[in-house]
Amino acid sequence: MFARAVSTPVAFTLLALSTPVWGQEAHTEITKWQDGKAACISLTYDDATINQFRIDIPLLNERHIPGTFFVITGDIQGSKYQPAFVGRPVMDIIRESATVPTTKENILERSSMLNYLATVQMAPELKGFSAQRVGGQMRRDPSAATATVDAALAKLRESGASYTVGRRKSPVGDSRWPVTWDDLRRYAAQGHEIANHSVTHPFMPALNEANIEYEIEEANQEILEQMGPKHTFSIEAPYGIDDPRVKPVVASRFALTRNWVTDDFMEGFLRDDRRDPTTSTREYVQWQRGPLSRTSPELMKSWVDTSIAHGIWLVLVFHGVEGIGYEPLSTDAHRAYYDYVADHQSHLWIATFQDGGKYARERVNSKVTASRSGDVITVTVTHSLDPKVYDLPLTARTQVPAEWTLVRFREGDDVRWVPITRDGGNSWVIYRIMPNGKAATLEKAAN
Ligand SMILES: [Zn+2]
Repeated sequence: MFARAVSTPVAFTLLALSTPVWGQEAHTEITKWQDGKAACISLTYDDATINQFRIDIPLLNERHIPGTFFVITGDIQGSKYQPAFVGRPVMDIIRESATVPTTKENILERSSMLNYLATVQMAPELKGFSAQRVGGQMRRDPSAATATVDAALAKLRESGASYTVGRRKSPVGDSRWPVTWDDLRRYAAQGHEIANHSVTHPFMPALNEANIEYEIEEANQEILEQMGPKHTFSIEAPYGIDDPRVKPVVASRFALTRNWVTDDFMEGFLRDDRRDPTTSTREYVQWQRGPLSRTSPELMKSWVDTSIAHGIWLVLVFHGVEGIGYEPLSTDAHRAYYDYVADHQSHLWIATFQDGGKYARERVNSKVTASRSGDVITVTVTHSLDPKVYDLPLTARTQVPAEWTLVRFREGDDVRWVPITRDGGNSWVIYRIMPNGKAATLEKAAN
């Protein structure tokens, strides 16, 4: 109605006296990454090994770099949701194996149970049993997989030991895993993301659906109760798996997985992908790199340089630090790399994994309108996603008249002074704006 009213001749005349350029479009776009940065980088850490907290968190905090920590919830002291095998009684399955050989129909129930007994109950008969090995055999040589499972079950039958789902025997809260939920809440308050890496870190391609669900949903519930809903956004199914049977079970339950890029507008070049990410024709590229102990500092730095040059979202996957964890890097290597990342902040948005994913989705699903009336530009940004979850501000870039030298930004109670940047003969302001909020105004603020 307002738009129609001002289009009448009387209203137009009144407005025209003071604002001859009323309603003129003010070119505005949402920048590809936050704050108009060329690229985005997310530093992620798997397995919650203790040096990630003792060594990396202080190094990150000194440089104001947020990280994302995929934690194995069952390994954290004080967790309520404990490892379990979901299914028929363990002894029924063991007894049945005396007369029913392992087949492709029952192998997942059996390997789920064996994995549980081996890793949680620490069954001595299953020393050397590896769900990863069974999973690999299932893919390449199914008869070898059934033979491995049959042999493991035979050992359990021969020992005569009795097993049940109950108190875990694997160590928790000893010197290897002294991180607590209080610690993690403190890290979250410093800006870090805590994310789901399952209850016990199983190799999910060797688990049946009920046990995959248990592992990810119980971990999710633990994180929800301990950390709050913000930290239930991201998940990494252990071992960076890319299994077509596991994918829908995991990806349907979480907003963001690090195993799979599920957005149509984004192409994923995941950890073991050797293709050149700069060849992608997609608007967004997520490029994952996982430095190993032998990875050179020069190569790690080149990932940052390439990402900046091509607008890429670089997702780094760190594991061990200073001798603890998988493929550890030294403290010095981490420190030098964080310095390099921080030194490139003028071109690089350093964001949690969650925020990198949220920003790209909000931007792709957003609409922006902007019009200028004299010395005031009114801007609205909306997106079509759930605003309770997708709550990140976006960065807008608006062209302003050449004579403006300073802008007063206002969106509700948020009032800021924004400098002008000049680029290609035009004047611009770059500012963060909350989507789906009140209309924002940009006002000429100095002569
Ligand atoms: Zn892991």
